[in-house]
Amino acid sequence: MEKLLKNPVFHTIRDISDEMGLRSYVIGGFVRDIFLDRPSKDIDVVVIGSGIELAESVAKKLGGLKLSVFKNFGTAMLKYRDLEVEFVGARKESYQRHSRKPIVENGTLEDDQNRRDFSINALALSLNKETYGELLDPFNGMKDMQKGIIRTPQDPDITFSDDPLRMMRAIRFATQLQFRIEESTFEGIKNNKERIDIISGERIADELNKIVMAEKPSIGFKLLELTGLLSIIFPELQAMKGVDKVDGRAHKDNFYHTLEVLDRIVPTTDNLWLRWSAILHDIAKPVTKRYDKKLGWTFHNHNFIGTKMIPKIFKRMKLPLNEKMKFVQKMVDLHMRPIILSEDIVSDSAVRRLLFEAGDDIDELMTLCEADITSKNPEKVKRYMRNFKVVRRKLKEIEEKDKVRNFQPPVTGEEIMKTFGIEPCKAIGDLKAIIKDAILDGEIGNNHEEAFALLLKKGEEIGLRPVKK
Ligand code: ATP
Repeated sequence: MEKLLKNPVFHTIRDISDEMGLRSYVIGGFVRDIFLDRPSKDIDVVVIGSGIELAESVAKKLGGLKLSVFKNFGTAMLKYRDLEVEFVGARKESYQRHSRKPIVENGTLEDDQNRRDFSINALALSLNKETYGELLDPFNGMKDMQKGIIRTPQDPDITFSDDPLRMMRAIRFATQLQFRIEESTFEGIKNNKERIDIISGERIADELNKIVMAEKPSIGFKLLELTGLLSIIFPELQAMKGVDKVDGRAHKDNFYHTLEVLDRIVPTTDNLWLRWSAILHDIAKPVTKRYDKKLGWTFHNHNFIGTKMIPKIFKRMKLPLNEKMKFVQKMVDLHMRPIILSEDIVSDSAVRRLLFEAGDDIDELMTLCEADITSKNPEKVKRYMRNFKVVRRKLKEIEEKDKVRNFQPPVTGEEIMKTFGIEPCKAIGDLKAIIKDAILDGEIGNNHEEAFALLLKKGEEIGLRPVKK
């Protein structure tokens, strides 16, 4: 195990710990991730004694590194190259029912491992010379890692009731690592799901975002549903589950469809909000669902109603109410447009309008739309994908020709006022709209000359004459 701790920072901690007569260990997520081969930059060091004092000496020895000390928490943190090392004294924790904040006392290594949430998160490696690299694994975390299991070391009912955030963490780890949640741990979550109410929206959102950004987020959302947590934290998504049947005609299960779409959007470092768009693209289907004897199941206007539901959902879930939310709304609003385009012969003006409305987000919209084709019929999928190719090609051609992606009106309101010698009034907006529509419909080119000529013509029709200069 020694070779796992070959970074010089560990050697320094070892030497200083021995000098100061302290026992120290690297513990938790960093140790877990070494064995799972997931590179990690956050190191937690637990000390039997004062974490701050050890950290001060280590920082000095490493050439006077800057140390951030949090006296209230008894922790200190330093940055060494690309690593963040946090030092803390070993603790024992006890909980009260109304809060997830425990009463903390100094403790032994064993006490500190006992307070950890899962067996795989309680592993520690010794940092003292005599026992350097020795693994302390009191709850068989290594075995659970080999078997791919998330399990609480203590009674799951107590673990989850003490700190209900651990329920979200269990599901998050199961999703990220593609592990199974062991049965009694799973039952523990089911029994304590209501306790999630004492956790702040921000903490829940953090965990949820980690689930959303995992390789296969559907694992997490299915677990949230099965444990009963989903209906508490995200009732709108829960409402998508299930199938109705009338006259022998059923619609698809929109919950599982949504998860399929979500999984099909490959995670990158910056597409969290595209993935949220996938989660929310059909969110208004349950509230817009109707059965029509002729048409079967319809979800009229679900894209538009969906955009209206988003601010309430984002506010409750403590997601940002800024341009990220606007982006999600735009995606939800437009998510059917490329499909409609691909079903028909694509006219230039329809493509131009889509480009105008989607602007720079057009590529992400196309990614969402392609992911939305989850049909089990391979012929149908092939046809859609072929048509999407045509749409993509047309988008490119028309953008090169007409440049409407980031449309700037070729004639401004200011120029209209000056031209006709008028004050701000409704006619200016109307004339601008006429010019924009003429460009999008391909009646005139996207340039000042043609736009100005149209302005003069349309102005005259409503009795406006250019003033002489
Ligand atoms: P990641 O870095 O992916 O978030 P992590 O396990 O390192 O995973 P941290 O939140 O940094 O997550 O926690 C570090 C360690 O602290 C965990 O491995 C675990 O031992 C312990 N821990 C964190 N949160 C809790 C909790 N709510 N209850 C019990 N132990 C916890």
